[in-house]
Amino acid sequence: VRKRRLGGWGFEGERYDASPALLAWLRERLGEASPLPATADPGAIPLPDARPLPAFSLPASTAARDRLFHARGQGLPDLLRLRAGRIPAVPDAVLRPGDEADVAAALEVCAGAGVRVVPWGGGTSVTGGVNAASGEAPSVVLDLERLAGLSGLDERSGLATFGAGTLGPALEGALAPHRFTLGHFPQSFELSTLGGWIATRSSGQESLGYGAIADLVAGLTLVAPVGRLELPAMPRTAAGPDLRAVVLGSEGRLGVVTRATVRIREKRPPLRVTGTLLPSWEAGLDAARAVLRAGLPLALLRLSDETETEVGVTLGLRAHRLLGAAARAWLAVRRVPERACLVLLGAPGDRAGARAVDDAGALLREHGGVGLGDRAGRRWQADRFRHPYLRDALLELGIAVETVETAAPWSRLAPLARTVRSAIEAALGAQGERTAVLCHLSHPYRDGASLYFTFFYRSPADPEAGVARWAAVKRAATEGIVRGGGTVSHHHGVGSWHAPWLPREIGERGHRALVAIAGSLDPEGVLNPQVLLDPVDRLDRG
Ligand SMILES: Cc1cc2nc3c(=O)[nH]c(=O)nc-3n(C[C@H](O)[C@H](O)[C@H](O)COP(=O)(O)OP(=O)(O)OC[C@H]3O[C@@H](n4cnc5c(N)ncnc54)[C@H](O)[C@@H]3O)c2cc1C
Repeated sequence: VRKRRLGGWGFEGERYDASPALLAWLRERLGEASPLPATADPGAIPLPDARPLPAFSLPASTAARDRLFHARGQGLPDLLRLRAGRIPAVPDAVLRPGDEADVAAALEVCAGAGVRVVPWGGGTSVTGGVNAASGEAPSVVLDLERLAGLSGLDERSGLATFGAGTLGPALEGALAPHRFTLGHFPQSFELSTLGGWIATRSSGQESLGYGAIADLVAGLTLVAPVGRLELPAMPRTAAGPDLRAVVLGSEGRLGVVTRATVRIREKRPPLRVTGTLLPSWEAGLDAARAVLRAGLPLALLRLSDETETEVGVTLGLRAHRLLGAAARAWLAVRRVPERACLVLLGAPGDRAGARAVDDAGALLREHGGVGLGDRAGRRWQADRFRHPYLRDALLELGIAVETVETAAPWSRLAPLARTVRSAIEAALGAQGERTAVLCHLSHPYRDGASLYFTFFYRSPADPEAGVARWAAVKRAATEGIVRGGGTVSHHHGVGSWHAPWLPREIGERGHRALVAIAGSLDPEGVLNPQVLLDPVDRLDRG
């Protein structure tokens, strides 16, 4: 049985190590890093005594590992703190409701006794969204793992109803015998849940073909402290403002999503991904926009900047002397500059998909693209769900890997990318540190796209200093995103770490409107009080 790792991604015993070429590249850019101390033994981590809780109608686990495991998500400071075994706040108990009535009963008790509640799906939040609330009042986690599975299938309409705690692989596994798919594949697919996707307005890697979760949810049930909200599945409705859209992205503040009816599609052959090199980032942006405008039925388009292309393609080639020399000669003949940008195009591996990729490939060639075939694409597919393990392997060596993301209209993308990159470099430079910033465009739309930044820097051995360095960079990067005209988040959500910037995007009045909605469903304010609507800067407490 695979056991979830505490303080790192995935399952115990599984890893993905950095190649010697990547380590040498990072050493050149960041300087020599000092490995972090070994991960703390969970059994030796001191936990505060559980605060007294009211009686619940379902078992409340106070086991140390359970409380510890549910104290934090998967953000960088979460990993730093769990590794070091220094966690400022842990929940007092973990409840696992078996049905909607259990959820309603637990919420009633919590609201009556002022116990704070963190709804928990897979705990893969990277925004501080599941972090235990600090302070006097007791808190519990509502782990929804038992609210899982397929409970209804309407093949004629292409609708399936699942419990909110259903994990990605279980959801696709239940649809596969019926030859259907949801097509929602975030990189966290293996460990995240339908309820978590809804609560954070998640986007999967094939969103270009299938849509984001906001497009895929037809109806849902929300259990709030004041009662149940049933929003039936409809293909579209003009029955006033769409409350489904209000629940999507509500991050547990309005209630607990207990189940949802999603739009499913006939399963098509697995994705085929091809690579093309574009002469520059600017040429890549123009080419990506042209492909989008052509309205081709692609499932994926991803454009890496020069540095991400160097890490993803060139480093691998450099490691093979013969292959590398042959590839460089081949690229030189085709006049591909040293610092080119990789575009990955993906579509289902059937005839219609192949035609879409061919047509898109022709548009890329008009922008100077040189086709690489499907080698780079196959590699990306093989590693797409394994990459998160690399973050832990590098952190052990003292190298932090952090990601930030946003979206903006096409006309703002190029300057926004520059602003965010400079903000990250300046924040680390102020600490006398260097960084390497990688960026890619993905989740493209007719009017704009998402930008996703991955950056590396040296993390100090002392976890408090590590969190402080992270907080300074995160603050600068988020400020850069908002200043540059990007959204606070394209798909990670707001959580507690982005919450101070939300009013900058939706305005104070918009913010007050959301607070009023939350107050109408959760008048005692017990649900996840630190996320989304609480604009306190908690980054240093990370
Ligand atoms: C390595 C890695 C890769 C990632 N890749 C992607 C990606 O490609 N695309 C993407 O969109 N995101 C990605 N994420 C972010 C994260 O996986 C998503 O936010 C995901 O939707 C969270 O789902 P979860 O089930 O783990 O939710 P959790 O982390 O458990 O919870 C997230 C938030 O939702 C609330 N919540 C959870 N379940 C419910 C429910 N049933 N009712 C009400 N509130 C609830 C929680 O209280 C919390 O505020 C990634 C994260 C990691 C660590």
